[in-house]
Amino acid sequence: MAKVLCVLYPDPVDGYPPAYARDDIPSVTFYADGQTAPTPTGPLGFRPGELVGCVSGELGLRSYLEQAGHELIVTSDKDGPGSEFERLLPEAEVVISQPFWPAYLTADRIAKAKNLKLALTAGIGSDHVDLAAAARAHITVAEVTGSNSISVAEHVVMMALSLVRNYLPAHQTAVEGGWNIADCVSRSYDIEGMHFGTIGAGRIGLAVLRRLKPFGLHLHYTQRHRLDSTIESELNLTFHPDVLSLVKSVDIVNLQVPLYPSTENLLNESTFAQMKQGTYLINCARGKLVEREAVVQALQSGHIAGYAGDVWFPQPAPADHPWRTMPFNGMTPHMSGTSLSAQARYAAGTLEILQSYFEGTRIREEYLIVDGGELAGTGAHSYQLS
Ligand code: NDP
Repeated sequence: MAKVLCVLYPDPVDGYPPAYARDDIPSVTFYADGQTAPTPTGPLGFRPGELVGCVSGELGLRSYLEQAGHELIVTSDKDGPGSEFERLLPEAEVVISQPFWPAYLTADRIAKAKNLKLALTAGIGSDHVDLAAAARAHITVAEVTGSNSISVAEHVVMMALSLVRNYLPAHQTAVEGGWNIADCVSRSYDIEGMHFGTIGAGRIGLAVLRRLKPFGLHLHYTQRHRLDSTIESELNLTFHPDVLSLVKSVDIVNLQVPLYPSTENLLNESTFAQMKQGTYLINCARGKLVEREAVVQALQSGHIAGYAGDVWFPQPAPADHPWRTMPFNGMTPHMSGTSLSAQARYAAGTLEILQSYFEGTRIREEYLIVDGGELAGTGAHSYQLS
């Protein structure tokens, strides 16, 4: 019998289940790169469209795990030495965590997790796990690759439009009973004709470029390997050999690279200084990719016209985190990858990975981040250990 320790975000403040806006969600069976959506066997343990990413939702895992004789513990109490997570970690064989409410698996915690064999990310992005320490301890790290890529891409498009068009302040004017059109539009522009650049054109970054193409933007990207020339010509992309070349050339910068030691603070005071006056920045990748104070100063000085995103460090962000109150921000808590649509896919993928693990079949290569003491599968392409 295995102990499965699952850390999920807390229930809605008004109780569980919430009142749903819709009865169902569209079914997605394939992703843009041809990968199939999760294919667990047997019942899912939830109805697609239900809120399963929070504690009471349990990712719908309880019936499968208990019928197989395993113990499932679900908690949101994850931080600090007295937390339920730290208390139960030494006995856990499997830890399930989410990027939105990350149970940070630091090297210290991994050293205490003597029984841990599988660290499973219900979502995408396993940087909350010290991957080098996990590799040394021969812990398998897996995530549900592809499950929420389009969810995030849609959020990025929404944020680009809302920043440039000044949507949030204008909405606030409406809510407050005002009608000063001049105030609403004095920072409002059309996105058409602007230059948009993504740092990282992988699953999400490329989906963002494809979705923005019909808006009549000039599209740019940079990453270490060039995209196929057919994609470059289909989207009329301008490739930049490095981050500096891209940020100097565009009006809107999107960050879509994984966080690993050498991408921390990728955008910093000196990169901001190279950006055009009035650049907009969107970051739905990871908070630590951006130097925290530098973005506050760039917004205060007016050099950066707006910053939107849903990723912070740490998470949850403390109440006094300066990104909550800096000028011209369109921040949300980390929500883009956990829409009800995304949850159906990452919960099904979590079940699929658990079935592979417990039933002795190989976890899909594209779900693997660390395996056999080294980066593996998607992890070997996406991450570096130093
Ligand atoms: P992919 O691995 O598909 O794409 C990442 C891209 O980044 C690759 O194309 C890679 O290309 C590029 N890249 C990696 N390192 C560098 C570097 N040093 N400089 C420039 N480019 C680099 O990942 P996804 O698109 O699926 O996800 C991207 C990130 O988004 C995730 O790692 C995660 O942190 C975040 N995410 C956030 C979510 C949310 O809810 N907000 C949900 C899902 C993901 P190359 O190898 O050629 O450099």
